[in-house]
Amino acid sequence: MSIDAKPARQSVANPVSASEKINLLGFSPKGMEQLFVEHGEKPFRAKQLLQWIYLRRVTDFAEMTDLSKSIRGWLEAGYEISVPEVTLDKTASDGTRKWVQRMEGGNSIETIAIPDGNRITLCVSSQVGCVLDCTFCSTAQQGFNRNLSTAEIVGQLWVANELMGPKAAHRAPSNNTPTGTNAITNVVMMGMGEPLANYQQVMPAMQLFTSDWGFGLSRKRVTVSTSGLVPYIDKLAADTDVALAISLHAPNDELRTEIMSINSRYPLDELLAACDRYVDGKAYKTHVTYEYVMLGGVNDKPEHARELFKLLKDRPAKLNLIPFNPFPQAGYERSSDEAITKFQKILMNAGLMTTVRRTRGDDIDAACGQLVGQVKDRSRRRERWEKLGRIPVRTESGKS
Ligand code: SAH
Repeated sequence: MSIDAKPARQSVANPVSASEKINLLGFSPKGMEQLFVEHGEKPFRAKQLLQWIYLRRVTDFAEMTDLSKSIRGWLEAGYEISVPEVTLDKTASDGTRKWVQRMEGGNSIETIAIPDGNRITLCVSSQVGCVLDCTFCSTAQQGFNRNLSTAEIVGQLWVANELMGPKAAHRAPSNNTPTGTNAITNVVMMGMGEPLANYQQVMPAMQLFTSDWGFGLSRKRVTVSTSGLVPYIDKLAADTDVALAISLHAPNDELRTEIMSINSRYPLDELLAACDRYVDGKAYKTHVTYEYVMLGGVNDKPEHARELFKLLKDRPAKLNLIPFNPFPQAGYERSSDEAITKFQKILMNAGLMTTVRRTRGDDIDAACGQLVGQVKDRSRRRERWEKLGRIPVRTESGKS
């Protein structure tokens, strides 16, 4: 994996905390090394600190006993490890757990943990609200306020591990490679927001999720889901090895543009070509997952299934059908069980690997598309729309 970390301090503003100190949560491995070097220390010390933060979940520098007193001194003087505050913690009848976390400016976001056998998947948010306006998604109806910082993104995983994982036993620095203390086994960037519209902050978070210096998750267990910001799919391919999921939801441009306006910017042929490039030539990337929300009478007819098969048949693709999850004023209905089964059968019989996602956590509004959080000043989507998917070009002065 290439690590194109920005110098730490400028990439990590500290919206999690009101204090004057710099929050070290969210510093990339490179950024943390740089910090140690700036303080005249050996870069490998950074690894010790990162393991304290992410594997032992210790936030008090005084407890980090394998760091020298002088290191702990300058850390305490100018820095802190500040994690988001949980304001609501709810568990659904099927064990799905939802947290609301407070963010600066009166905003809040939602994070969902979904236990399934010996896995626990965390559904992580990347924006307050969403910059996109997909017609079937309740987050979209919330409007957009701002991007989350790297600290706020990794903070969601940190908090989930703290609330679901083993506690005191892992505190002591008994060995140099603490493992097995984190409860969450998989991360999907499928919470509120469009992760590729917040690439600058999401990228270092991906590095911390997958790095041995951070949470140490396998790259196969971290998935970025996008509605299709094509230039950033290529950038993601260059920068990481994480799994890719695409919110497809329609088998042709006409219908897709109707329900996902981003399709007018990046139509299906461009999107699918970028997905092919994402896995091309990489032995460990076997497929892209395509997600397809089943909207009754809209995109769930047999002819849609056949059209979808034509689109995906020669690609490294798996299809995941998502029964639509309703929300107030949605204006859509979930496809009937019969329609979903028929749709799946057509695709499976034709030879496309097609699964149906089990609805989880809907009794506490924690299912796909039901996340709302609290989005203040919802009007900022329009100003972002023009720039969506454009990768800023750096000028010589460093400004874009
Ligand atoms: N913006 C990213 C991340 C969101 S992921 C993306 O579009 O991929 C959330 C997934 O749930 C997406 O596939 C989204 O399209 C889907 N979804 C949105 N609203 C839904 C609803 N009401 N019912 C079921 N799935 C929904």
